[in-house]
Amino acid sequence: HAKEQGGNSSHFFNSELQKIAKEGVLLEQALHLALARNEFALHYQPIVDTETGQLVGAEALLRWHSEQFGFVPPDRFIPIAEHSGLIHELGHWVIEEVCHQLNRWGESFTGSIAVNLSAHQLQYAGLAEQLMSVLNKHRIPVERISLEITETAMIQDANSAVSVVTDLKEAGFMLSIDDFGTGYSSLSYLTRFQLDKLKVDRCFVQKMTEQPQERLVTKAIVQLAKSLGMQIVAEGVETLEQKSALEALECDYLQGYLISKPLPANEFELFAKNLTRASLDECIARLPEA
Ligand code: C2E
Ligand code: MG
Ligand code: MG
Ligand code: MG
Repeated sequence: HAKEQGGNSSHFFNSELQKIAKEGVLLEQALHLALARNEFALHYQPIVDTETGQLVGAEALLRWHSEQFGFVPPDRFIPIAEHSGLIHELGHWVIEEVCHQLNRWGESFTGSIAVNLSAHQLQYAGLAEQLMSVLNKHRIPVERISLEITETAMIQDANSAVSVVTDLKEAGFMLSIDDFGTGYSSLSYLTRFQLDKLKVDRCFVQKMTEQPQERLVTKAIVQLAKSLGMQIVAEGVETLEQKSALEALECDYLQGYLISKPLPANEFELFAKNLTRASLDECIARLPEA
């Protein structure tokens, strides 16, 4: 066929596309089996108070170790889970696992856990009720869970998203806007939804120490959110220089590799214990040089 279709390059192109499409189908099949096979895990990335250096919470991040494909990053499988509708079941597994884990940690971690919601989950009218029934089953107070929503999620079918977000808010969940500044930012979303926290995307955190102009952009985002009564979390903090720049902007919370990578549940518990004994600066100083 290659010659008829115009030579080797198009043959190459078509077979590459076929390969990619085929891989997507195979990943989707594997993803359907992954829940039953227990191939998912959650890792927890610490979030600290900028001023006191104390651990206030963590973000739960999905990890998939596929028997067939090995480690597959969430940016790769979440879109497939969304496309195939599996995201609802997966999202249900995530909140179950978080509640279960909070009870397993008991007194060794009393902070809150941030759970990511996909745009598709926000289209499900029963979401707030579903989440609350999981929390009730495990006797987890709603204050211990915050939910992260992206800008893109609020734009897609905004009307039904608004009503689901309103239900979540009424149920008592803390809500954060995730990856702020990377989507189709319309500032009206900041007032249309009642959001408690704004997560400054890591691209702003990275650029702000490289160019003075960029620092002004980050500063403006922080000030705007503060004037709307929101708390600020900086994502992707990797260097001490970024940390001090964020301290200067009076950013409320820090999250990033400088503080810790996302950790399996047992390592997170150790991290929490260490941080009660030593200060954050001591913990950071002990990190091996990158
Ligand atoms: P996100 O919610 O914005 O999560 C932050 C991502 O940044 C995570 O990537 C985290 O590992 C990474 N990160 C944290 N600190 C640093 C840093 O200092 N430097 C760098 N370079 N990266 C850092 P991850 O775990 O690969 O997750 C990617 C995305 O997948 C998440 O972005 C989130 O949108 C989605 N995701 C992860 N878990 C879930 C889940 O349970 N449900 C849903 N719906 N989405 C999830
Ligand atoms: Mg997030
Ligand atoms: Mg984020
Ligand atoms: Mg992200």
